Amino acid sequence: MKLKAEISNRIQEITEDCYKSNGGVNVFKLLKKLNIKCWVSNMSDVLGAIVKEKDKFEIFVNKIDSPKRQRLIICHELGHYISHICYSFSRQEFDKNGFIEDTYSVLGRTDIIKSDVEIEANQIAAEILMPENKFKELVNRAYSIEELADYFECVSPLVRSRAKSLSLNIENNYFILS
Ligand SMILES: [Zn+2]
Repeated sequence: MKLKAEISNRIQEITEDCYKSNGGVNVFKLLKKLNIKCWVSNMSDVLGAIVKEKDKFEIFVNKIDSPKRQRLIICHELGHYISHICYSFSRQEFDKNGFIEDTYSVLGRTDIIKSDVEIEANQIAAEILMPENKFKELVNRAYSIEELADYFECVSPLVRSRAKSLSLNIENNYFILS
């Protein structure tokens, strides 16, 4: 599944001025810009959630997760938000329940076939965290997986999966440039 052009454009528009001058996205600036409050709380087996109340959205992340994981989850929840404002897959979920909840069993396991709602939110999160153009630019400047992970403040498995989704080839932590 490829992100709809409308969504890709919207991500660019929303995140444009929210990147650090030499690094990844500033999620707090992004949340502030969108006027979305984010709470770090105790939530047993819930990784993250986004709640819609009238036209206001609030995001919740689990206190037990590392800052890098929380960062990823916030971007995932923002993925549901952007999907909603673009009338895509998450919209129905919000209309039905008023919220979307991500449990560890859904997001933590790759062997579970994910719904379009979750696949799309993950793709939006990946684009916010590691924008395709910037990612490819750094790969062309010979950044390694670890250097990309540092730059985007992500864990390296996430960088690898992003590379895979962009059809970039990796060998021994380096990209094979053709
Ligand atoms: Zn989700």
